[in-house]
Amino acid sequence: MTADGTKAPKACADAECGLFALAQSAELKAADGDTTPRLVADTPSLDPAKDEWDDDTPLYEARRKIYPQRVAGLYRRIKWAVLLVTLGIYYLTPFIRWDRGPSAPGQAVLIDLSNRRFYFFFIEIWPQEVYYLTGLLIIAAMTLFLMNALAGRIWCGYLCPQTVWTDLFQAIERFTEGDRREHLQRERGGWTAERVARLGAKHFLWLMVAWWTGGAWVLYFADAPTLVHDLATLRAPFVAYAWIGILTFTTYALAGHMREQVCLYMCPWPRIQAALTDEYALNVTYRYDRGEPRASVKKASALRAHGLPAGDCVECLQCVHVCPTGVDIRQGPNLGCIQCGLCIDACDAVMAKVGRPPRLIAYDTDLNIKRQAEGLAPEYRLVRVRTLLYLAIIAAVGGIMTFALLTRTAQSISVLHDRNPIFVRLSDGAIRNAYTVRIANKRPERREFTLSISGLAGALLDVVQTREDGRFVIEVGPDQTREIRVLVTDYADRPAGSTPVNFHLYDANSGERASAGDYFRAPEGG
Ligand code: SF4
Ligand code: SF4
Repeated sequence: MTADGTKAPKACADAECGLFALAQSAELKAADGDTTPRLVADTPSLDPAKDEWDDDTPLYEARRKIYPQRVAGLYRRIKWAVLLVTLGIYYLTPFIRWDRGPSAPGQAVLIDLSNRRFYFFFIEIWPQEVYYLTGLLIIAAMTLFLMNALAGRIWCGYLCPQTVWTDLFQAIERFTEGDRREHLQRERGGWTAERVARLGAKHFLWLMVAWWTGGAWVLYFADAPTLVHDLATLRAPFVAYAWIGILTFTTYALAGHMREQVCLYMCPWPRIQAALTDEYALNVTYRYDRGEPRASVKKASALRAHGLPAGDCVECLQCVHVCPTGVDIRQGPNLGCIQCGLCIDACDAVMAKVGRPPRLIAYDTDLNIKRQAEGLAPEYRLVRVRTLLYLAIIAAVGGIMTFALLTRTAQSISVLHDRNPIFVRLSDGAIRNAYTVRIANKRPERREFTLSISGLAGALLDVVQTREDGRFVIEVGPDQTREIRVLVTDYADRPAGSTPVNFHLYDANSGERASAGDYFRAPEGG
């Protein structure tokens, strides 16, 4: 057994010697007097019906430390590219500037909690426009479902923050403590000054990355250059330091220490994903029709020479050694597999060395593997009812949000009818209703609005303290809201009950309008 608990070849002390040493060291099992080559590996059953539940199997398994080995290949390159882009976006976005005029913040992406605004480049979301957030959440959920329907847990394997930061922390670990073999050898060698220094360097770099991750997060909530200056001169608010501390700790703990444990035990998505997937979703899959029965290179040649079957898997365990969650994908689908594709890269490299075709492990479906085992052509069905449905929902919600954004106004009005009393009968017999009207000016300059009503012929409008030249002129400051008391008095002999009434806001300078509806309530007997 290796230090991480995986089964290692007997004579291959040097993991770098890899598959060839393994192939040479592995012994053929031969029956008494029988010189016919047999397979070394006990191939696990891939038939669930053959699996047996062992009553003695403990329900708790202690953590097995994982030492992922460096690997090169297509999927590794994709993961590096995704890591650079996503971390680049996260760390640098707060420093992007966006000119919104003199009285508005100049940061492109800003969550302005004190003024209850969210700025995203040219878009400014007000609290009453929280439905945009709802739309974004629906699109995000449907995109996740779509990814799952197309290629299983590719979100987990490439884009999930836990994966991205863990990948970065593992790269730092390999940089400071060496690749898998070197790291294991150093740990077996006990405590030395060099090991302590390397360990110290690793934790220092981890803490630096974690600290900058927490620091970048708070920059989304205030003007980034100003906050950086305030943080450096110890003049930033305490809450900023507190959040940086909390996020430094969580990043260091989750990406540095807990790693795959988060995916295996804490994250609900693997369970939800397993319930959402179907047989046509592409998953990282071991082609047991090609790989089994496993044999070393030499033995496979001998077996083939005797006309016996020999699979392409040479039992080198490279696919297991590169896996960030310690999964042996050859055992079949596994909840711990995050579909990162690194085992594909590892196995492709092995196949290239042994002169066998690549993609013994590949993004494929179990259905296709069965089909290929039966000599049928693989069948890919990326366009299915569920993928079309997810796409349709994304397109519909995206379309509605785009339309709403393009047609949104720079002012809004909302009306709230007084609850107590609902109406008042005046001494002259007229009925009066009172309302609270909230007007929002979403422009960065001061504006004047006039207010009027319709739907209640003959009724009089009175806006407390805002009359000007016989009109009700309401001044609202830049990027502000204003609440006003509005009285509507009706002298008509109106039947009891509710009559719809509309409130109209008008900006005479720009000609822009906004309206909101409510009801005028009258008592029995008018
Ligand atoms: S599947 Fe590929 S990488 Fe894994 S043990 Fe077999 S040959 Fe090696
Ligand atoms: S089994 Fe392969 S795809 Fe799955 S997590 Fe491990 S390396 Fe990634």
